[in-house]
Amino acid sequence: MTISRRVFLASGAAVAAVTVNQLSRTRVSVAQSNRVLNLYSARHYDTDTALYESFTQKTGIKINLVEAEADKLIERIKSEGANSPADVLITVDAGRLWRAQDAGILQPVSSKILQTEIPASYREPGGHWFGFSKRARVIVYNKDKVKPSDLSTYEDLASPTWKGRLISRSSNSIYNQSLTGALLAAYGDKKTEDWAKGLVTNFARKPEGNDTAQIKAVAAGAADVTFVNTYYVVRLAKSNKPEDQEVAAKVGVFFPNQKDRGTHVNISGGGVVKTAKNPEAATQFLEHLMSPEAQEIFAKGNNEYPMLKTAAIDPMLASYGKGFKEDTLNAAVFGKNNLVALQIMDRAGWA
Ligand code: FE
Repeated sequence: MTISRRVFLASGAAVAAVTVNQLSRTRVSVAQSNRVLNLYSARHYDTDTALYESFTQKTGIKINLVEAEADKLIERIKSEGANSPADVLITVDAGRLWRAQDAGILQPVSSKILQTEIPASYREPGGHWFGFSKRARVIVYNKDKVKPSDLSTYEDLASPTWKGRLISRSSNSIYNQSLTGALLAAYGDKKTEDWAKGLVTNFARKPEGNDTAQIKAVAAGAADVTFVNTYYVVRLAKSNKPEDQEVAAKVGVFFPNQKDRGTHVNISGGGVVKTAKNPEAATQFLEHLMSPEAQEIFAKGNNEYPMLKTAAIDPMLASYGKGFKEDTLNAAVFGKNNLVALQIMDRAGWA
């Protein structure tokens, strides 16, 4: 039996013993219990079920979940047009959230809770999307070959010191497009292209594999340094497989650019779909995601940093770093910069 059904029956049973006034109120709550929020999500963590259940318990609104890859969800909402059942879209990376906004499938939301609890740099200024958890793109190094004092900034990885010692996944990775988009905002086209060329010159191998593959290669000595999202390191450290734990033990995590603009931080986030049939419930759901209990579950699902300042950080993640200086460039800026960033990366040979 679903939670919304339980709420429905409880409300129904109460009807018999109430006055007319109370009856009309009960009818409202029965109607609410039948409401459904259609959530299109690119997240697929078991812990998310708890998020949905707590929302249903709080509001009586049942969640109907559609899971798929982000780009497929965006395409689906576009092709469903005005008939789309989607109320909320949840996905990762500001680049994709920007893509959804650019496709015209999100509507602006005005919410005091979201505006107060989410720092300005982690929400789209017009209210089209909001970040609910954070991931830092950090430098990962082989502890036998590199000391933290050898490291400083993303920019420095393009210097001759790192020739033949750096690896990266390809320019197809939206994470690298967002990172390059952040440098683009700081330096402009020319300097960013020089930086990308410097990185490519330093590559120990052609870009291949995902973030986890970069960490494993650095642990195995195929290169000395790489850059990845924090949760991939934590995932290896928490793995049941001894070989993954060995990989995590061999590498260190360094938060770059602490003496200037801060480490590049990206988000998991979402927004209300333009054609939502339940825009109020959709906004309520986003506000629910910022509640202290939801924040811990949402962040924990993928070993990310919670958005809410007072929410607890996973101890393993915290052991790699917390309280570091975050780049306060608005996520909408580097999200929007993705396309130009990709062109720059391709020109630089970062295939
Ligand atoms: Fe990822």
